[in-house]
Amino acid sequence: MLSISCIPMEAVVYKSTGSWYSIFTGEGVFLRARIRGKLRIDDIASTNPIAVGDIVQYEVEVNDPEAAIITGINKRHNYITRTSPHNRHQQHIVASNIDQTLLFATIKNPKTSLGFIDRFLITAEAYHIPAIIVFNKTDLLSSKDKEKLDEITQMYEKIGYTVLQISITHQVGLEQLKNMLTNKTTLISGHSGVGKSSFINWILPELALKVQDVSGWSGKGMHTTTFAEMYDLSFGGRLIDTPGIRELGLFDIDRQVLSHYFPEMRALLQSCQYNNCIHENEPGCAIKNAVQQGHVHIDRYVNYMTILESISSPKY
Ligand code: GDP
Ligand code: ZN
Repeated sequence: MLSISCIPMEAVVYKSTGSWYSIFTGEGVFLRARIRGKLRIDDIASTNPIAVGDIVQYEVEVNDPEAAIITGINKRHNYITRTSPHNRHQQHIVASNIDQTLLFATIKNPKTSLGFIDRFLITAEAYHIPAIIVFNKTDLLSSKDKEKLDEITQMYEKIGYTVLQISITHQVGLEQLKNMLTNKTTLISGHSGVGKSSFINWILPELALKVQDVSGWSGKGMHTTTFAEMYDLSFGGRLIDTPGIRELGLFDIDRQVLSHYFPEMRALLQSCQYNNCIHENEPGCAIKNAVQQGHVHIDRYVNYMTILESISSPKY
């Protein structure tokens, strides 16, 4: 005979500190959860087995109705990792089950390099997560800066990326961005100082209250800013913030497949004379031809080469 308690209950992970998790249950409440024993999950070496966005099974603690034990995890549709700050070969899963990722960038104060943007886009491609580039602080731009930004915007739009130009302080482009988040789970990323917190405060004005709630039951009375956290959007959808995580992890990328993560290059790969062409010095290279003809932007090719050189040589 099947007893009720055998039916696994599911919850979504909203916050992960590595030692405890905030999970939102099917009953509509947040519980503080822990893992008991070993949970074997993914095949990657991760020091943190549960990530924000994970759907988990749990049991409520017998003597504490606000606490839970995570007993299992559903298969992830996707996930994104970062390299451990302590060990380059170890990956932390930052978040999972993501619909899209927003990269916040700025031309000025601070300047985001195109190299950084391209590395981010490659990561998103590698994880099959659509990326939207948001250039903030357009109010600070001179007409010359604006021209440069328009060029950059066109370069990425031509490849197929969605690019927005916004100003949070001047309330430009915010409604359009809000519409893009509706009913999606979106990971927000970007360097420090580009306006992520300002945007989160604009889109989640009630957050300060929520943070208070969370710290209340954590017992520590503080809101830590180094762990990923997910927030519900009042108009539908969820936002995942990953404070303190500047670079997402690009692990195990092979020199041979790097160009697959540049969509404009991916489309041409079949046309290279050699099928193992890495578009460096090989004859009959369709990518280098396309660069010469202006179909692949020179800046993207230069970034491709820079990243290629940074990847250690393949082991034969
Ligand atoms: P974060 O580190 O990415 O979270 O960036 P913050 O949201 O803390 O913003 C960094 C600074 O940029 C703050 O002083 C903001 O007031 C400012 N800022 C944010 N958005 C804009 C904008 O659209 N225009 C201008 N001029 N400043 C902005
Ligand atoms: Zn080639």
